[in-house]
Amino acid sequence: MVIVLFGAPGVGKGTQAEILAQKLNIEHLSTGAAFRNAIADQTPVGLLAKEYVDNGKLVPDDVVAKIVEEALAHAAFTPGCILDGFPRTKVQAEALTNMLQRMGRRIDCVVNITVPDVVIVERLLARGRNDDREDVIRHRLDVYNQETSPLLDYYGSAGVLRSVDGLGTVDIVNQRILDVLPD
Ligand code: ADP
Repeated sequence: MVIVLFGAPGVGKGTQAEILAQKLNIEHLSTGAAFRNAIADQTPVGLLAKEYVDNGKLVPDDVVAKIVEEALAHAAFTPGCILDGFPRTKVQAEALTNMLQRMGRRIDCVVNITVPDVVIVERLLARGRNDDREDVIRHRLDVYNQETSPLLDYYGSAGVLRSVDGLGTVDIVNQRILDVLPD
């Protein structure tokens, strides 16, 4: 089962992905976490990604796609995976379709988690990560609206999109997600 958790920054993708990965016993891949680890370890990818991540910009598509492709090729990903934070652009979505196709797989479900912008800003300011400063948050929301949200049409047309209200407790939102996943 290949599940994409979709939505603006701060809607709870990371939290939900972790719980789902445990419940469904499949891997969780967060591109944001992958970049934060690479930055902390000062790997070549980390050195390249740092300026983008710190400023709320998108890391270039080819760098992101390479990281995802390497992860998906790992045996642990054979039973399935939850993608969190990827794809974020049309180019990434097409790259994902192609890499899955080469593996004889496809996306089973794209779960769009929705939360109003005012709540997102509150949540991220409270989280206080390095890139959770108000100006950077606003920029990330702009980037989401311009580059990422158009993918809703792409996945809607493909018939794999399900939307879930992201307001409520972690458990309630998790149950809503489980309810829309295919069997
Ligand atoms: P959030 O969803 O709260 O913004 P993430 O952890 O998903 O947090 O992402 C943090 C940062 O990592 C992004 O602002 C961006 O710089 C980088 N990043 C993560 N995923 C991608 C991606 N698919 N394409 C480009 N950049 C990405």
